[in-house]
Amino acid sequence: MEVYLDHAATTPLLPAVVETIYEAMKTTNGNPSSTHKLGRIAKTKIEQARKSIALQLVASAGEIFFTSCATEANNMVLTRCIKDLGVKRIISSPIEHHCILHTLDRVEEEDKVEVVLLDVNQQGAISLEQLNEVLASSDDKTLVCLMHVNNELGNILDLQKVGEICQAHSALFHTDAAQSMGKFNYDLSQNLIHFLTASGHKFHGPKGAGFLYMNANTILKPLLTGGAQERNVRSGTENLHGIIGLHAAFNLAYEEFDARNAKLTALKASMKEKLVELIPGILFNGTTDRQSCHILSASFPPSPKNEMLDFLLDMESIMISGGSACSSGSVKASHVLEAIGSSAEYKTIRFSFSHINTQEEIDFTCDTIAGIFAKV
Ligand code: PLP
Repeated sequence: MEVYLDHAATTPLLPAVVETIYEAMKTTNGNPSSTHKLGRIAKTKIEQARKSIALQLVASAGEIFFTSCATEANNMVLTRCIKDLGVKRIISSPIEHHCILHTLDRVEEEDKVEVVLLDVNQQGAISLEQLNEVLASSDDKTLVCLMHVNNELGNILDLQKVGEICQAHSALFHTDAAQSMGKFNYDLSQNLIHFLTASGHKFHGPKGAGFLYMNANTILKPLLTGGAQERNVRSGTENLHGIIGLHAAFNLAYEEFDARNAKLTALKASMKEKLVELIPGILFNGTTDRQSCHILSASFPPSPKNEMLDFLLDMESIMISGGSACSSGSVKASHVLEAIGSSAEYKTIRFSFSHINTQEEIDFTCDTIAGIFAKV
């Protein structure tokens, strides 16, 4: 049996999405900027995708821009906010994705903006009181940048509360929704969120296609200049087939929203329960009350097997993401686990699920892990 439990890294294309892309590759090949018939057909496909996404997120189509991925969209928000909206300070957290943290390092150095990273507790939660205090401590134009769902811990940020705090301090709010898109409902018409980013390959769409929501009042200038595509916000010939695939995957995610989330919730609960039963001393990372249904971060107690666990699971064709807090010689120390003070003695594994996983796969994975630890 081959078990893929690394859906937070990327998800496979669903057959229906493959079909849609394949059809489009055969029939729809115009350049969306061309004014002739083939160009207009291609353009229409892109505008249909934009409209569907906008409708679902309760935004307007003019607020959705296609990008190559969430990384590009996040880079654009962080760098252009400074230049276009006069942002002087960015408040974020130490457990954001590297595409945020490395960009923050860069803008701090090159643009001399102040970067404040909020504290996170041992569960990886920020304190809303601290956010309030930091916002109150300066009148500088501020962008708050906090991810919706943490990709290693599964923690869910309270977008409503953070948005309201930002609004009370006239701060801009950007959220990286790469892990949450398709699994949460959004209402961006509330105007609490100014920027939101997502990536198609996290919800069974193709790699290389993502999108950026920008509130109509805070449209940024482009990161890439050129042919003025995407209403001059993102130049470069559109990834037509990627956007068509993203659209198909996005629609499916929301059509099957309840059933998928129910399945994910059940799979995660079952895995957690079985691991507790089989592995004495196992710990789970992240917040207990606000957890996304598709990520389970488990820490295995000290054992000679820990060093080899990723490899041994790979040998059994079980695909997961391994990580640990920094230990000597470790090249893959996780900045998230370090930030929450996770012990380097423990071996952490991130299991991340999709609705296409089965109970048999969960059982097989748990039994295999138990078998690995049982062998001397
Ligand atoms: N943000 C989060 C939270 C992620 O998990 C990822 C991917 O792992 C990204 C951003 C980057 O996405 P992409 O590689 O599609 O740019």
